[in-house]
Amino acid sequence: HGRFFIGGNWKCNGTVESVTQLVKDLNAGSVPPADKVEIVVAPTFVHLDMVKKTLNPPFEIGAQDCWVGKGGAFTGEVSAEMLHDFGIPWVILGHSERRSLCREDDELVGQKCEYALSQGLKVIGCIGETLAQRESGHMFDVLDAQLRAIANHTSLGNWVNMVIAYEPVWAIGTGVVATPEQAQEAHAYVRKWISDNVSPDVAADLRLLYGGSVNESNCGTLANLEDVDGFLVGGASLQGASFISICNAEN
Ligand code: 13P
Repeated sequence: HGRFFIGGNWKCNGTVESVTQLVKDLNAGSVPPADKVEIVVAPTFVHLDMVKKTLNPPFEIGAQDCWVGKGGAFTGEVSAEMLHDFGIPWVILGHSERRSLCREDDELVGQKCEYALSQGLKVIGCIGETLAQRESGHMFDVLDAQLRAIANHTSLGNWVNMVIAYEPVWAIGTGVVATPEQAQEAHAYVRKWISDNVSPDVAADLRLLYGGSVNESNCGTLANLEDVDGFLVGGASLQGASFISICNAEN
């Protein structure tokens, strides 16, 4: 399924001082070479420039969101072409916090994926059900609709620039990590969905990340699951030592 992938989503966190320290800790850490594990950290827009100037390879950088189309009179937004022009290769789209707190629906997330890909960005597309959706038996319907919106807007050739993060909302920031069985079940569903609805080749190559309360203690077990090809890490990505451990989860 392609190279193992670790994303660090810093969310709306950081001061000049804390970001400087975190970058220092990451640069000093020992992580697998880039041909083994791809590592992308996503600071806030405010911190992208300083992180880009100071964080060393093999770490790569991503943004946490971008505007749905071409830039212009959209106060407060940052466009995909700006990110690309600025040298930011990755963007996270459709994170559950943006879906719920900023009312981004499936269609908007699909459109954002399409535009970002068209501008040369690589996309971490996020999906995942809430606890209420899971408990009422709608988990697979929710994943189906979220995947369909993304797939409708992603041409066959663009899937090489896409990874999908399965982040069950009930596991995000709660300390309640999905069990290995729950993670594998959801990831296998996503891979089969992509195989049936996009193509078997795309499904075989696609990296499927798990996100939600990943830490240095639970990452090893999850990393061994057949359909888990990496992680999207929130809280633990703000701690240099924890994130470095997670980057070594496969060892
Ligand atoms: P936590 O790792 O803090 O649960 O957050 C996960 C997440 O939302 C990553 O995008």
